[in-house]
Amino acid sequence: MVHPDTELRYISDAIGWGVFATRPIPRGTITWALDALDQKFTPTQAALLPEYARNLLDKYSYIDAAGRYILCWDHARFFNHSCEANCLSVGYDFELAIRDIAAGEERTDDYGTLNPDEPFSCLCAASGCRGAVQPDDMLRLGEIWNVLSRDAFFRIRQVPQPLWHLVPDREIVEAALADPNRLRTIHHHYRRQPIAH
Ligand SMILES: [Zn+2]
Repeated sequence: MVHPDTELRYISDAIGWGVFATRPIPRGTITWALDALDQKFTPTQAALLPEYARNLLDKYSYIDAAGRYILCWDHARFFNHSCEANCLSVGYDFELAIRDIAAGEERTDDYGTLNPDEPFSCLCAASGCRGAVQPDDMLRLGEIWNVLSRDAFFRIRQVPQPLWHLVPDREIVEAALADPNRLRTIHHHYRRQPIAH
């Protein structure tokens, strides 16, 4: 579920829709959490879908560490990619604002953290645009993402968290907040092989 201080806005014919902050969202805020209505499809289940549904699943889902396609039920499925994303995860089923997000600013992810099946060209407007997002970005950029998101993680208790009740495995998150040595890394999300069926 997406943070309540966000809304869907149409950007352009080329980009389509995006998710924008309606109020300032401070660094350390949980901006999305996996919830009970988000749908999970194994590769076998996905392959059995009608073609139109499979195409939509490919467009709007991300892939988790077990190789499942996760289709968010709300406007989370319209998060766009940026090579300088303002939201990342540190290895749990939620994402954090890794810097302050201003009202009116688009909320973005780095699709390199979401196990893309195929490389794709990137035309994001970020000054540090990589030019392409690769399936193995996690292996090359994971440590950078860990550094970017670690500080945000330890601000979880310092900012309002309207999505806290949705966070899966809250006791595991609490343990990491109490002991930094128990903090996961973003590699926790990297798709393991073989892909689950
Ligand atoms: Zn880019």
